[in-house]
Formats: sequence, structure tokens, C-alpha cells
Amino acid sequence: MRKINKSYGNHLVLKNINLDFPEKKVTVLVGPSGSGKSTILRSLNLLETPESGEYLFDDLIIDFTKGVDKKELSYVRQKTGMVFQNYNLFPHFSVLGNIIEGPTQVLKIDKKAAIENAKKILKKIGLEAKIDNYPEELSGGQAQRVAIARSLAMNPEYILLDEPTSALDPELELEVLQVLLQLAKDGQSMVIVTHNMSFAQQVADKIVFVEDGNIVYDGAPDLFFKDNKNLRITKFLSSMV
Ligand code: ATP
Ligand code: MG
Repeated sequence: MRKINKSYGNHLVLKNINLDFPEKKVTVLVGPSGSGKSTILRSLNLLETPESGEYLFDDLIIDFTKGVDKKELSYVRQKTGMVFQNYNLFPHFSVLGNIIEGPTQVLKIDKKAAIENAKKILKKIGLEAKIDNYPEELSGGQAQRVAIARSLAMNPEYILLDEPTSALDPELELEVLQVLLQLAKDGQSMVIVTHNMSFAQQVADKIVFVEDGNIVYDGAPDLFFKDNKNLRITKFLSSMV
């Protein structure tokens, strides 16, 4: 992201921000409520369109002053998969149905191959046994893991997660965090918004601290969590424990 500005009405919520999201790394966005974290994540998926600035992805350069055309939108959507706080699973589809819907309908992958791939992913996240169950039959943690599986099945370059565990009880949260830690280990590129600082510290290759639409910190987790001399950051961190 280069010099991104985004407002809602006359409220400027992203103020000329520059950010890189390294490949095969985990970038974690933290910061107070209302600071602009979700807006950044949604802009990465083009669910929000900034008014100005550039979005560079591979060889693609989107100049937001000119708007976003269909080709750019479909390129970015194919390269990024969004996982929401509340899973958004299709209630009338089984777990398998949820996972193969996108690959068969959007990517036009052969159904048999899509099922094979879905089984592999379910195994990876420890949910093979739930393949024929429906979303209402799953715990919150299981449902969120299926949402992650569904995103993985589309084979995006980046998975974007907005507070993926904030709707979960602590013991269910853990099983989702473990899946994300495993994906990180496998080199899956991710951008994660979280209020869970111990998870952020564990999973992040890089921390971005957002405050009032500005990037206050963009760098190594160790420096952020341990050796920080920035008063706003130390205040934020002490408010989180
Ligand atoms: P939280 O930690 O509470 O999720 P956040 O850092 O994700 O907060 P954003 O959702 O990005 O914050 O919101 C940034 C600012 O933009 C806030 O002041 C919010 O009120 C405002 N905002 C977000 N979405 C909209 C919208 N659709 N219309 C108007 N204002 C919005
Ligand atoms: Mg948010």
C-alpha cells in the first residue's frame, strides 16, 4: 500500500499510510478499537476502496484516484481470501459443501479433485470427522476452522483474518490459533488483525501498530513487545493485559 487515504463521509480513517505485506510471512495488525485495522484489511481485499494512493500486487498497480476496474478486482480477489469473525458459512451446505463451493463454482475445478483437496485440508486442520456435518452442528472453533479451510481451498496467496477468534471462548480460541500457527509454519502468507497479544507475539513475523489512521510502528515483534520506548505503544500494551 502506498500513500493510502480512506474516509467515511468527511472522517479520514486511513491517513496517507504506506505498508508492505511480505510474502510467506505473517503480518499482524494491532491497535486500539476504531484505529483503522479492519479498514486496512478490507482495503487489501478491495471490500473498501480508498480515495487515493496505490495498491501494488505482483505486477498490478491500482491507482485509487482512478477507481478499480473489474480486472483489477478479480485479480485481487483471487489472490486474497478473507476470513471473518463470524465464519459466514453457508448454513444449508455440509462442511464439504462449504469447502468445495468456491473451487467448483468460481475456479471451475472438477468436483472430484475439489473433494480430494477438501479432504486434505480438513485433515490438516483436524476436522476430517466433520466432513458431512452441517454448520449448526459445529462448535464455534470448528466452524471457524471450516471457514479457514474454505478460504484455503481457493488457494489464495494471502489469507486475511479479521479477529478470527474474538467470537470464541478461550478453549475454542486455542484450537483456531493452533491451526493458524501451523499455517504460518508452512509459509502461508497471512495478514491478521487480533487483540490477542500473546498470539500476536507468537505468530507475527512483523507487527503493525495502527492508531487513529496512522502507522505508529511497523517492524519486528521483539522490538514492539520487549524493547519499546514509544509511550503510546507501552500504554496500549499495558491496557491489553
Ligand atoms: P476494532 O478494533 O473495534 O475492530 P478497527 O481498528 O478495526 O476497530 P475500523 O473498523 O477500521 O477500526 O474503523 C476505523 C474508523 O472508521 C472508525 O472510526 C469507525 O467508526 C469508522 N468506520 C468503519 N467503517 C465505517 C463505515 N462503514 N461507515 C462509517 N464509518 C466507518
Ligand atoms: Mg475491526
